[in-house]
Amino acid sequence: LHVIPYCFYNHFVLYVLYNVLNFLLTFFPLLICLFAEGRVEVSREGKYLSTLSGAKVLGELAILYNCQRTATITAITECKLWAIERQCFQTIMMRTGLIRQAQYTDFLKSVPIFKNLPEDTLIKISDVLEETHYQMGDYIVRQGARGDTFFIISKGQVRVTIKQPDTQEEKFIRTLIKGDFFGEKALQGDDLRTANIICDSADGVTCLVIDRETFNQLISNLDEIKHRYDDECIVERKKINEEFDNVKLTDLRIIATLGVGGFGRVELVQINGDNSRSFALKQMKKSQIVETRQQQHIMSEKEIMGEANCQFVVKLFKTFKDRKYLYMLMESCLGGELWTILRDRCKFDDATTRFYTACVVEAFQYLHSRNIIYRDLKPENLLLDEKGYVKLVDFGFAKKLQSGRKTWTFCGTPEYVAPEVILNRGHDISADYWSLGVLMFELLTGTPPFTGSDPMRTYNIILKGIDAIEFPRDITRNASNLIKKLCRDNPAERLGYQRGGISEIQKHR
Ligand code: ADP
Ligand code: MG
Repeated sequence: LHVIPYCFYNHFVLYVLYNVLNFLLTFFPLLICLFAEGRVEVSREGKYLSTLSGAKVLGELAILYNCQRTATITAITECKLWAIERQCFQTIMMRTGLIRQAQYTDFLKSVPIFKNLPEDTLIKISDVLEETHYQMGDYIVRQGARGDTFFIISKGQVRVTIKQPDTQEEKFIRTLIKGDFFGEKALQGDDLRTANIICDSADGVTCLVIDRETFNQLISNLDEIKHRYDDECIVERKKINEEFDNVKLTDLRIIATLGVGGFGRVELVQINGDNSRSFALKQMKKSQIVETRQQQHIMSEKEIMGEANCQFVVKLFKTFKDRKYLYMLMESCLGGELWTILRDRCKFDDATTRFYTACVVEAFQYLHSRNIIYRDLKPENLLLDEKGYVKLVDFGFAKKLQSGRKTWTFCGTPEYVAPEVILNRGHDISADYWSLGVLMFELLTGTPPFTGSDPMRTYNIILKGIDAIEFPRDITRNASNLIKKLCRDNPAERLGYQRGGISEIQKHR
């Protein structure tokens, strides 16, 4: 099982997987296969590529998302395979993530300094807890030493001792076990340790830790996020939509095609009898939506774009349907896609990149303050209005999250997805900051930083992190500094998700 790159970080997952595999083997269609016995041949378009045997994985791309098979696999001997279906794999990953979150949150609730914090804050803190391991006899904390770390025991037991002032001998005070904690004063600024804490389990101790800086940044950042905007503007927005209450599909006249999306064309239209304005009408084939199981996504696209009242988000005024199609009547952006301009110019200078990035940051500020993640940032989804400002379009992957919660759906464009999405660890608005870093890089150089010849290779490059990427020399120090701060592997460390929230990005030089 160790050959699956996506799950070997947790023994529990392996254990569950093992059981599930046994079950699936008998009943479900194969999506990913693990070799047990035999040999197969790999070919593409009739051309022989290689022979595989032994512990190899096939079809790992399919476990991540709905895609076409990239090669043909033919058995050349009798073969025995283990298989797992995507839905099942994702459910396991999600459940594991949720179990971990619930367990950590429970630990936190038992700690006095955390007791009065709201549930969503505890969930956030439990996300940034890190596991550390100690062996029998290790001093986890030494009396008199300085330290800024808080510990919760998640496995094993420790001994607490205090040095006697007269004899300097260590006197045993008590034993702490799973669920107990120590060093909490360090989070409030007291950094001199008052006792020794020594690992006292033959098979080691595991602690969940958080340091003062991470804790303080998170708490003040959470305060910032809680400072939500008043939603009077939803009412204002409803008034805008009311104007279109009586417009019917038959009142619309097609003028030209603006673009093509995954489910159909987007047409430039006018309302009969009103030549002063134009709109964009996005058509989506119902059967195709159902086939690709995108119903839920389309519904949230409608809801979010229909309510958003932000200059940097394309407005949706009204929807229609007929037997075959769904339609969305939107504000039209007549400047085309940012993608086209980037293609023609090859790359943008600092000032241009700063301007377009700033437009996106404005849109993110609006969305994130309402706990909406966008999840599909890329130059194709950035449209220019007639004045040259950029607006976000295509909210097919956007989602409104419950405060403090994460989401697990694998979506986005390979080059732009954050590592935690690939690893199925659950993600939140911080995934958008990752993609903002990727966008900046693409605007400055013409290609995204993480690019492979196929999605699988791209994911592997993403997992190696931004520090493994060579930055062309013409990217300025300030720009590369910002990109690196946005593309941190650890979501909690990304700029925008830190103390001060998104204004940190706006303030960056
Ligand atoms: P999909 O969700 O299938 O990707 P999009 O909403 O991204 O569909 O629309 C596809 C393309 O149509 C866009 O990339 C853009 O070129 C064009 N388009 C979409 N909405 C508008 C709009 N409001 N104004 C102008 N062009 C648009
Ligand atoms: Mg699109």
